[in-house]
Formats: sequence, structure tokens, C-alpha cells
Amino acid sequence: MNLLDTPMDVLFRFSFADLPIRGQWVRLQSSLHAAGQFRAYPPQASNLLGQMLASVAMIADNLKFSGAVALQSQGNGALRRSLAECRDHTNLRGIMHLTDDASFPSSYQDIGAWLGQGQLAITLLPDEETGMQPYQGLVALDQADLAKCLEDYFERSEQLATRLFFAGGTEQGADQRVTGLLLQRLPNHPDASDAERDAAQDAWETLTALAATVTDAELATLDAPTLLHRLFHEYPCTLQPAKALHYQCTCTLDRTDSTLRMLGEDDLQALLIERGEITVDCEFCGKRYRYAQADVDRVIGSTEAPWQPSGRGPLH
Ligand SMILES: [Zn+2]
Repeated sequence: MNLLDTPMDVLFRFSFADLPIRGQWVRLQSSLHAAGQFRAYPPQASNLLGQMLASVAMIADNLKFSGAVALQSQGNGALRRSLAECRDHTNLRGIMHLTDDASFPSSYQDIGAWLGQGQLAITLLPDEETGMQPYQGLVALDQADLAKCLEDYFERSEQLATRLFFAGGTEQGADQRVTGLLLQRLPNHPDASDAERDAAQDAWETLTALAATVTDAELATLDAPTLLHRLFHEYPCTLQPAKALHYQCTCTLDRTDSTLRMLGEDDLQALLIERGEITVDCEFCGKRYRYAQADVDRVIGSTEAPWQPSGRGPLH
């Protein structure tokens, strides 16, 4: 299978023989295209969204429970709000709200210029049936780019030394894609000898030094087996089977009903009289939900329990 010929979005995980070091490689193309279908983003913004989606895909790949991972930002820079989400380990969706003045940073890499004074948060939302609590952690924004900020986050929050690289390639439009490469140092086995610990640390330093030699062109164009062989051929590396990722929205009529119900009967009726029909467009997938009088009556008359923030998504 030549991955470069397929618009499939894919993630590989890999590990090095007898070493507490793992890695992930992810390439997104069709998800990037899908995310930009209902909102036209400048290429460098689309690239940043691609990095965010690749990041949540990699984090979700390591989760032991079912649920969602979200990376959300808000700030006063060119990027006012954004959300990248990976649900059920494979389903991605994302959105960006940009300023109207079109004075966007020329590089996708300068995270400070995109967010300005702002916040970036990682949220883990386990499905209700897991009985687990949601978790949110802030990503410090004192590094140059998203990759460095996330390396810092993994180091601080999970005590896992991490190296993360992104490349955007030069293609635009439907051919635009983002590729990410992550290396992570896992804890030593509790029974590891001093010699094994030293060997693992030496290998980590060598592997990360080798990874740092990757060029944007190599990362953006080579497929995973070729890239890993080119960078790390001195270290036996096992590549797990490819995992396909998809752009898939989680909006439903039920959730849209619940959102409208929160407006209250008076406001809903007033809105209906003013507009003749209420339409709600999903900002992720563009799907339009229409509400005429009978639909509004159904929403108001419904006895369903009020919407709870522990539902199936941070925005719906
Ligand atoms: Zn949708």
C-alpha cells in the first residue's frame, strides 16, 4: 500500500526492541480537507488545526478508556477559539474561529502569535459508562510552537520525556496534509538493572538526536516505514498495523434540540415568529437542522431531561 497515494488518514505506533521508548507517526489529509470544507481557513491556520488534530489523535491512541480527547484554545491573537477533538480513538473533528482582519501570522509555527494572550487546554472526557471523571490540564504557552508546548506538557503532567515534530508540506487545498512524529521515553522496568537503565537513557538520547535531524520534506513526504528506517535503522523497531482515522461529526438532532431548549419557550417562539423557521447549522460538519412550528412544539413539549455538560461533546 502506498500511503502517499491514498487520502486515508492514518496513525502508526511503534516501539524499539527491549527499550522503554515508544513512538507514533500520524498523517492527516482528508480530515484537514473535511475540517476546512465549511469554513475556509488560510493554509497556515489549516496547518495549525492539522497539528492539533494530529496531537489529539496521538493522545487518544494511548487512552485505555473510551471517550474523547480535546485540545481547545482561546485567546486574543489571530486565533480566537479553536477545538480539535478525537472521539472513540479514531474519529476527529475540529474548528477554528479566526479574527476578521486577515492579519494572520505568516507561519503556522508561532503559537504565541496565533493565540496572543490566551490559553490552551487538554481535556479528557471519558464516556459516562466508564464512571471516570473528566480531566482538564493547561498547556503552558511559553514555547515557540505547538510541538514544543506539548513536549513540555507531557514532561510536566505525565513525567514522560517526549519529542514531537510536525511538518506541513507545501501542498495546499485538498492536497494539504500534516504529518507528526512523536517519541516518548517510558519509565524503566522496575526490575531493570543499572546497566539497562543506562542503556535505555543512551538509546533515548541517540534516538531523539536522530529524530531531530528529520527535515520538513522528509517528514511531510516519506511514508512511516521509510522514514523510521531512514532515521532509526540502527535500532530494531516494530511498527504496529496502521490505524485509520476519520473526520466524523457527533452532532445529532437530539443534541440540537437540547441546545435550543436551553433558550426557553418564550425566546424560541419569538425567534420562530421573527424568522419563520429556525435553522441551526453545525459548525463542524455544516449539517443544517431546521425547526418549523411543529418542531419547536416538539422541542418545548419534550419531557427529556435537560442537557447536561457531561454529554457527548464539549460544544454540543
Ligand atoms: Zn455536525
